[in-house]
Amino acid sequence: MKASLKLFRIFGITIGIHYTWIFALIFFSWTLAMVYFPVSYPGWSTAVYWITGIIAALLIFVSVLLHELAHSLVANARGIPVHSITLFLLGGASNMEEEPQKPAAEFAMAIVGPVTSLVLAVIFWGFSRIPADTTTPLAGILSYMAIINMYLGIFNLLPGFPLDGGRVLRSIIWGSTGSLTRATDIAGRVGQIFGWAFIGLGIYLMISVSFISGLWIAFIGWFLNSSADASRKEITLRERLSHVKVRELMRREINTISPETTVDQLVREIFRKQQGRAVPVCKDDKLVGIVTITDIKKTSQDKWMETPVSRIMTTEPLYTVSPEDNLNVALVMIAKNDINQVLINDNDKCGGLLSRADIIRLIQTDRELGLR
Ligand SMILES: [Zn+2]
Repeated sequence: MKASLKLFRIFGITIGIHYTWIFALIFFSWTLAMVYFPVSYPGWSTAVYWITGIIAALLIFVSVLLHELAHSLVANARGIPVHSITLFLLGGASNMEEEPQKPAAEFAMAIVGPVTSLVLAVIFWGFSRIPADTTTPLAGILSYMAIINMYLGIFNLLPGFPLDGGRVLRSIIWGSTGSLTRATDIAGRVGQIFGWAFIGLGIYLMISVSFISGLWIAFIGWFLNSSADASRKEITLRERLSHVKVRELMRREINTISPETTVDQLVREIFRKQQGRAVPVCKDDKLVGIVTITDIKKTSQDKWMETPVSRIMTTEPLYTVSPEDNLNVALVMIAKNDINQVLINDNDKCGGLLSRADIIRLIQTDRELGLR
């Protein structure tokens, strides 16, 4: 998840907030100031309820941040780079560069989050017992933080993927069966069941107790359900694509052009005549760049005749795969870098390209034919 606003850096990790976070802050401040504190601690003034509510709401996010930091630090220690954490509507997300390669690493990374929250709960509970007067705003905040961290720990331990508990479950199944696909499928199904349960509970609460709290819980359930579903589909797809080689799908007859070709020629002879939105640029059968329709649009039309492709092409970074790579390698590269195609480097020779659309077409054809 991309942050809308970067706040600060800690242990080399950039902490940022997504714009949806502000709605969560408003929701929690409002609920705390209008409902929780007035019910639990009668007799304070309205201003005190609001100040206490806002401080407690901000501390919720400090707690979420510490939970995420624990995930990120263990990930970094296990060689999985995490460069940023984003706080958003439903909590926090550590932006991992890649998925863990071993069950033990996934287990350690996942479990440390809820453990951190539960330890924080105990610490806050301990502090909340210190003041002699337990009806002050300070005592109220401390005991609320103990409760919220306990909920954070317990909720995240639910064994449905992609919650931490679901990752723990996945790592255990993965470790014992050796199959990441099977493990993700099972943990994802459990995640979907929890998702439905939360949607049901949310709707019940909306009708009978509090509309807004119920809506919140239903929304969390919907989010859990759809991300579990997406994770299952993605892993099945990756597994499928890992059995197909790039060479089976790449188009041999694809055009390549030389850097001296003019933009005008490129438009007339390639883009207007054939499918595709990108062409590899090759010199002496070596790949030197790629030119796309987007690159062309940056040059004004009356300059097309005199502009050689070499002046507008992208030369780096060039994302390449080998014909012997598996398709999932190409798909991950396309998704991670948000590009539409990868170039094919065939033993240092210019080998055409493979587009996102090619892969999607293959998936659709297989699906239509019911291929296994
Ligand atoms: Zn977590």
